[in-house]
Amino acid sequence: MEELLRSIEKKVRPLIGLGKVADYIPALANIDPNQFGIAIYSNDGKLYHTGQAKKNFSIQSISKIFSLTLAMKHYGEDMWERVGREPSGNPFNSLVQLEYEMGIPRNPFINAGALVVSDMNHSRFASPHYAMREFIRRLAGNSKLRSDKVVSNSEYEFRARNASMAYLMQAFGNFENDVEAVLRNYFDNCAMRMNCIDLAKAFSFLANKGYSHHSGEQVLTRRETTQVNGLLATSGLYDEAGNFAYRVGLPGKSGVGGGIIAIVPNRFSICVWSPELNESGNSLAGIAALEALSESNGWSVFG
Ligand code: GLU
Repeated sequence: MEELLRSIEKKVRPLIGLGKVADYIPALANIDPNQFGIAIYSNDGKLYHTGQAKKNFSIQSISKIFSLTLAMKHYGEDMWERVGREPSGNPFNSLVQLEYEMGIPRNPFINAGALVVSDMNHSRFASPHYAMREFIRRLAGNSKLRSDKVVSNSEYEFRARNASMAYLMQAFGNFENDVEAVLRNYFDNCAMRMNCIDLAKAFSFLANKGYSHHSGEQVLTRRETTQVNGLLATSGLYDEAGNFAYRVGLPGKSGVGGGIIAIVPNRFSICVWSPELNESGNSLAGIAALEALSESNGWSVFG
C-alpha cells in the first residue's frame, strides 16, 4: 500500500502550483503551498502513510464532522428540526438560501449549518470548545492536540460573513446562545491543528460501524454511522459534492486548510492534505490523490 501511496504522491505533486491557498484570513494565507501528505488507517489497526503525513495543519471544516457527531449523540433525531440534510449546491459560506428557507440551513457541513450545530453543543456543554477538544483527542488517541489561537483570532476578526449568518438565524429563532460566544467556539474548533495520521485515526469510527479503536467506545450507533456517511457523500464537499462522488466515490469532508478525509465503509479511513485549493475551496492535489487511490483499489461506494 505504501508503494501505491508514494506513486500517487509522485503523480499529483505536479498539480501544486495550479491552485491557490485559502486567503480569506492572513493566518492561513501564509502557508507553504508545496506540501502533500496522506494517511490510511485500516479497521484492523494498520496505518499507511507517505509525504508530510505527520505535519500539523488547520483542520477547518473537517471539524464540522466532530461537532455533528457530538450533537447527534445528544439530540438524536430532534436535531434535524434545526438543520436540513440536503446538499446546498452553493459555496461553503453562502447566505442566499438561508433567508427563503426561514433560517434553517441546508445541511450541517455548510457554515450556516455548522454554526447551528455549534449552537446546539453550546447549549449542552459548560465549556463547549474544551468538550470538543477532549473528544477529538480521545478519538485520535493524541492528548497533545490543540487549537491555534492565531488562526482562531484571525477568523474572529474577519467574521462578518459567518456572523451575519448566525444573526440571521437568530432573527428566525434558530439560535439559542450568544452569537459572539458561539462564533468564538466555532472558530476554535476550526483552528484545531492535526496531521493526516491523527485525522485518519480519529475518523476510523466512521469506517468501523461507529466503533473507535482509540477511545474504545461506540461513538455512534451503526445506523447513525451510515447516516453521517450518507451526509458526507451528499454534502461533504460543498458545491463540489457531485464532482467528488463522480471522481472519488467515497463519503468525504474537506476543509479550507487543504485537508480532506474520506471513508471506505467497513474498511479504511483516509486523510489527505495539500494546502492549495481549487475554485470550490477543496484541495486540488488532495482530490486528485483520492481519485487515483479509489480508482486503483476499486473503492468507490457506487459499484
Ligand atoms: N473556518 C472556516 C470558515 O468558517 C471554515 C471554512 C471551511 O473550511 O470550509 O469560513
